[in-house]
Amino acid sequence: MSNAASLLQGEGPVGSVPLAGGLPSDVLKRHVAQRRHTFAVQVVSYALGTAALLIYVHAGTIAPLIPSAFFLSGVALIGVFALLSEMQVNDRFDDHYLTVFQVAGHVVIQLGFLLVAPEIGYAFLNVLFLIFGVAALRMTPLQAAIAWTLTALAIASIFLLTRVPIGMPVASPVERLAAASCLILTIGQCAFVGLYGDSLRKKLYKRGIELSEAYKRIEELAELDELTGSFNRRCIMRMLDDEIARAYRSKTACSIALIDLDWFKRINDAYGHPTGDEVLRAFAISVFANIRNIDRFGRYGGEEFLLVLPDTPHDGAARILDRLRAIIADLDWSAFSPGMRVTISAGVATLNPNETPDTLLARADSALYAAKARGRNRIASA
Ligand code: GH3
Ligand code: MG
Ligand code: MG
Repeated sequence: MSNAASLLQGEGPVGSVPLAGGLPSDVLKRHVAQRRHTFAVQVVSYALGTAALLIYVHAGTIAPLIPSAFFLSGVALIGVFALLSEMQVNDRFDDHYLTVFQVAGHVVIQLGFLLVAPEIGYAFLNVLFLIFGVAALRMTPLQAAIAWTLTALAIASIFLLTRVPIGMPVASPVERLAAASCLILTIGQCAFVGLYGDSLRKKLYKRGIELSEAYKRIEELAELDELTGSFNRRCIMRMLDDEIARAYRSKTACSIALIDLDWFKRINDAYGHPTGDEVLRAFAISVFANIRNIDRFGRYGGEEFLLVLPDTPHDGAARILDRLRAIIADLDWSAFSPGMRVTISAGVATLNPNETPDTLLARADSALYAAKARGRNRIASA
């Protein structure tokens, strides 16, 4: 005889569903924080670019005004977008980063300085790679196509319609250092953007897995009876319909059993409702442990359960049910409360040709009634 209470060991309460998402205001706050982060990174990027330009000032290639103006115009543009962001204007757009507008602004700055200081023009052209590298993480293909076309037109106009000499001066060692710094900086920042994109991809992949697990759990919860872990009434009734349809299709037998715990009201009265709940759980677990994978077991209501036995003729079903009955009767229920005894009665019915689920259930119910009338702790056939 096994101990009924031990069946419950290791069974925790039904877990809570980790539902994703939060209040809209939470999401908005998170967006603002993400944007602040990108603005800070942009300011650092302009500062680094300015540092490289200062080397050209040191070399005497450009006027000191150029790096200052470059930094200030960059920071001013970032400031405008930061202001819009803080006013939450961005949240009215699908892309709350306003990527296309940011791209346009930064491209205008780079091309503007290309015209202002063409002697170090390559340094500004360089940055276009970075701008598009960052923007590609957020733009739709259409937005990317538009941004690229406009930039291409601007570049073509400067190169083909003007005669400004675009240079990369490397005459002196300091100029060579400045040129190398510009290249190295841009390559480094492009690599950083690539790594950032990769981390976003990994985060998205992880989120996808978490979401599908949560979805699976929600589906399970929608199908299961919370107390016993067996299928709930809606689900077991659907399964009954499915199994009956399958039995007709495959011309195989299908049996069902309505199982009811005997004198369950007395168990509640004698040991308390919580103990009654534990008995229901232990009963369900022992049924699960003793049925086949193809069998379907669900709570029909209260302390009454429906067992669907596909591909099972009547004799086999009656044998399975009598085995279950003996197992429950032989369990050592004294761990719940000394002297406790639990038995079940069941009505077994096998599908007749052209029978509906309702009449099959009605026959099983009559059989269950007969089993009760004959003294309980027994199986009756319809
Ligand atoms: P019988 O042998 O004729 O089936 O007697 P019974 O006492 O089991 O039958 P009855 O239908 O009179 O009582 C069923 C009891 O089951 C009454 C109800 O309080 C109890 N019950 C139904 N659902 C639950 C439940 O989820 N938890 C507990 N603890 N008791 C329940
Ligand atoms: Mg009962
Ligand atoms: Mg009952």
